[in-house]
Amino acid sequence: MLSERPLRGEDVRGRGFAVDAPYAILETLEPGIGRLLARNPSPYTYIGTQTYVAGAGAEMVVIDPGPDIPEHVAAIVAAAGERRIVAIACTHTHRDHSPAARSLKAATGAPIIGCAALSLESVGPRADASFDGDYMPDRVLADGDSIDFGDGEALVAVATPGHTSNHLCYSYRGNGAGGALFTGDHVMGWSTTVVVPPDGDMGCFMASLNLLRKRDDRVFYPAHGAPVTNTQQFLRGLIGHRMQREKQIVRLVGEGKADIPAIVASAYPGLDPRLIPAAGGSVWAHLLDLERRGMVRSNGETWTIART
Ligand SMILES: [Zn+2]
Repeated sequence: MLSERPLRGEDVRGRGFAVDAPYAILETLEPGIGRLLARNPSPYTYIGTQTYVAGAGAEMVVIDPGPDIPEHVAAIVAAAGERRIVAIACTHTHRDHSPAARSLKAATGAPIIGCAALSLESVGPRADASFDGDYMPDRVLADGDSIDFGDGEALVAVATPGHTSNHLCYSYRGNGAGGALFTGDHVMGWSTTVVVPPDGDMGCFMASLNLLRKRDDRVFYPAHGAPVTNTQQFLRGLIGHRMQREKQIVRLVGEGKADIPAIVASAYPGLDPRLIPAAGGSVWAHLLDLERRGMVRSNGETWTIART
């Protein structure tokens, strides 16, 4: 598994999805870390959400239990076997990540510990239909907080807002093994992350990518796509891709592509039509970030270069 090359960004979007993916089967990735794939393939989730289990002994944690599919929840319970689940930890509260937390808690008695429920702004909800509004954690982790379990094992929260405001990655420290970071949707192994305002924030997302540049994680285990072993090189690629996209958007606005549909049509030629809303969201996220930095200006739905 670890020898798989991470798929490159947007070029895999729109292709067919594997039908023989190993759904509801526990795959061991390395000592103490296993993976279960949920049967929720889509243009946004690739072949499905990957739930990880971590723990080398009698206790374990579950990261991103996934969508509430009975087959998937049963597979997680079976993977635990006699072991005690000390925490059900969600990276964020999109519907393909957190809903199974409730069923898994009901089945095992394990607590939901990790990201915060989505906060609402006073001006209105930041959430849309993609959010799991029923998520209720028993304990919220802040950056650096840890879940200690087993014989010296720990899962440590790394705050990585951007994809969503409540996104956490989790660093696993095993007894002996270390350096694995569960990256949720912050860094994915098959595609670039979708950042959609108002909850998604491109400035925060870039800062959170740069935060991982300062770490020395050995491997990223994303919720979608293959493990990433060339972590620093991969991050440089992601950051470079976003900077190119930003440059392209500034150029297109300068050429008179004044609204988001016009920018998407130019910047994402041949895009799977099902992904146009996500592309529009990402362009919007870039424009808001550029506006904050004084580079573009909005007037209703239209955008122009800010001239000083
Ligand atoms: Zn997500």
